Amino acid sequence: MHFNILTIFPEMFPGTLSGGVVGRAMEKGVWSFDAINIRDFAINNYGSVDDEQFGGGAGMVMRPDVLGNALDSVKNRGKIIYFSPRGPTLNQHMVRDFASDKNATYTLLCGRYEGIDQRVIDEYDIQELSIGDYILSGGEIAAQVFVDSVVRVMDYVLGGGAEATANESFEIGGLEWPLYTRPSAWRGRNVPEVLLSGHHGNIERWRKQQSDEITKQRRPDLIKEK
Ligand code: SAH
Repeated sequence: MHFNILTIFPEMFPGTLSGGVVGRAMEKGVWSFDAINIRDFAINNYGSVDDEQFGGGAGMVMRPDVLGNALDSVKNRGKIIYFSPRGPTLNQHMVRDFASDKNATYTLLCGRYEGIDQRVIDEYDIQELSIGDYILSGGEIAAQVFVDSVVRVMDYVLGGGAEATANESFEIGGLEWPLYTRPSAWRGRNVPEVLLSGHHGNIERWRKQQSDEITKQRRPDLIKEK
């Protein structure tokens, strides 16, 4: 899988993506990226990539001519995604979908300022994608969220660890059960007896019941969605 990342802060990549399973997956060649500096396509020597909004109002907008040239410089763009609070919110189903083609290329457009000129979205048939109902100062963190979640699923699947992702929150139709590890007694708090029993049927029932309860309490919307 390959990601072309368009940003005015290319030095922010790979950033958090260099660690853990996702970083190792990059070393193994499961995924690669090019960070393309939008400023290389600026309209002047000052490196301007933005301008005032037509119609007035505070905040600058990224120019379509600059972004168009930056996008045209990428030979194989694949699906183009613009991170934006206006898009549908990324969820685990969408992550699985994006991860399903291990040879896919995604071009990720990181906005800054107030966002990008609408005509770029229309011209390139760009898909908008949000990572949640709050406003970030730029799309770079959203791009890292996207790459991390997609590569993680893909890497586990390729590496035969599919069970590890299958058991997680959202994958089980709800939230995860409480997790415990050694020591079995810590500061007077004991691990639930059933988990030490070795009885797989009982353990499975306990986990399912915990998961259902936590989901009902914290995220009833996940139950209704089913
Ligand atoms: N004026 C915009 C917000 C701009 S924030 C609005 O009201 O919708 C600047 C940039 O940060 C955006 O262009 C986008 O790329 C990124 N961004 C901000 N919040 C985001 C979110 N919730 N999900 C994905 N990207 C986001």
